[in-house]
Amino acid sequence: MLAGELALAGIDVAVVERRAGQELDRPRALGLHARTIEVLDQRGIADRFLAAGRPVQVQAFSMIPLDIGDFPTRHPYGLALPQNEFEPILAEWVGELGVRAYRTCEVTGFAQDDAGVEVALSDGRTLRARYLAGCDGGRSVVRRAAGIDFPGWDPSVNSLIAEVEMREEPQAGIRRDANGTQAMRRLDDGTRVAVVVTERFEGQSDEPTLEDLRAALRSVWGTDFGAHSPTFVSRFTDMARQAASYRAGRVLLAGDAAHIHYPVSGQGLNLGVQDAVNLGWKLAEVIEGHCAEGLLDTYHAERHPVAAGVLQSTMAQTALNRSDARMDALRTVVTELLGMDEPRRRMAARVSGLDVHYDLGPGHPLLGRRMPDVDLDTEDGARRMYSFLHEARPVLLNLGARGRFDLGPWAGRVRLVEAACEGGWALPALGEVTAPGAVLVRPDGHVAWVEEGSEQSLPDALTAWFGPR
Ligand SMILES: Cc1cc2nc3c(=O)[nH]c(=O)nc-3n(C[C@H](O)[C@H](O)[C@H](O)COP(=O)(O)OP(=O)(O)OC[C@H]3O[C@@H](n4cnc5c(N)ncnc54)[C@H](O)[C@@H]3O)c2cc1C
Repeated sequence: MLAGELALAGIDVAVVERRAGQELDRPRALGLHARTIEVLDQRGIADRFLAAGRPVQVQAFSMIPLDIGDFPTRHPYGLALPQNEFEPILAEWVGELGVRAYRTCEVTGFAQDDAGVEVALSDGRTLRARYLAGCDGGRSVVRRAAGIDFPGWDPSVNSLIAEVEMREEPQAGIRRDANGTQAMRRLDDGTRVAVVVTERFEGQSDEPTLEDLRAALRSVWGTDFGAHSPTFVSRFTDMARQAASYRAGRVLLAGDAAHIHYPVSGQGLNLGVQDAVNLGWKLAEVIEGHCAEGLLDTYHAERHPVAAGVLQSTMAQTALNRSDARMDALRTVVTELLGMDEPRRRMAARVSGLDVHYDLGPGHPLLGRRMPDVDLDTEDGARRMYSFLHEARPVLLNLGARGRFDLGPWAGRVRLVEAACEGGWALPALGEVTAPGAVLVRPDGHVAWVEEGSEQSLPDALTAWFGPR
């Protein structure tokens, strides 16, 4: 995603990827949340993903469903689309944008100086770049080589995930016990069974075996169901860690390299995509020389708190997934609370990523929040707001009398859109908000300035985000 964002901004970017292709040998994320779909919509590529997936109400807190069907967004749902189908679609888009890829080789280290980064590859080559972004997963080599701390919480549970055949009839369904969630489901081929078994973490090895799975099955169900012929056996834990800094000089971190947590409520991939969309245009502004490097620090300032919130949420959910008399009582209370409208809307907005609010100071509720995809009347006819974000360029949207704004020296960098907007304005979890007269929208779709709703003047906001006159 970051490569795509940079390429859209005209930056010369290359991806170094250990894998030969984009295929995954095991399932990971199951789908996308609403804000991620919106982010893809902002680039005009949501349809590709929507065509491949299935809209569903997937949002949940500790498996307690949270419906967002009434949310003011064009995508009031999640998209069931496994990561191994999502990644090739994204990779195809990145390929169309002409991004070079160095595949089947690894980054082994780097050295940075005042002007750039010397990146060492496993095949002996080195690449010279102005900036290096470590999007290399939870065990990030880049994070380690940059000396960035990864503080957090050690695992308490160990979940084995596998696809196997079983000689006995599996006990399909989800149940909770003292360790957490246990689940079994027969796959569509009618032969294989998908299993998740959760046990206490006791220093289990990185590469679980079929025998480890059988032992775990016996400890939960009293039988291993005659499990055999695994397609894969893998494990994940509830270790929750976050990079102390998302930037060390010319090196940045995004995605799992910056934060890891238990996959409950399906947040990790979604967070990573949104990190990339926050970082891409900022990196482009700095590389183009419009903005000073300080702009890059807003990436950490804005995205670190979002992932910190997700870590807390997943830890709470891991606790709530456990079952004993007291946890069950607590679960009953939480279920009742989440059945009430206001808590449901708050938590659903959080899980779906629609509530992200960057702190850009006091003012109009839109300030720092995502711009809704409102219907606009323009001199070229009816347009959706997000259609103006396809090129990942900033937009000044004037909803008042035409010709009130002159972007002057920013005209080449910021697009002025003159339009009328008839509909009402509403934000997920907040409800109706006052219609703005004009808004400045960043390439990531967040509102940087609202007329009569920001402490900053428009020239100050333009300078802060897109460089001086
Ligand atoms: C069982 C499970 C279920 C999950 N379910 C969900 C879900 O429902 N929803 C959700 O949003 N998230 C889910 N996640 C989390 C999600 O899979 C991750 O958050 C996501 O894959 C992170 O993406 P990433 O690109 O940051 O890192 P990764 O997906 O780990 O990608 C890192 C890439 O870097 C490459 N790489 C690593 N090191 C190097 C190197 N040194 N040189 C070159 N290349 C390198 C790797 O080959 C890989 O392609 C789940 C995870 C698991 C394990």
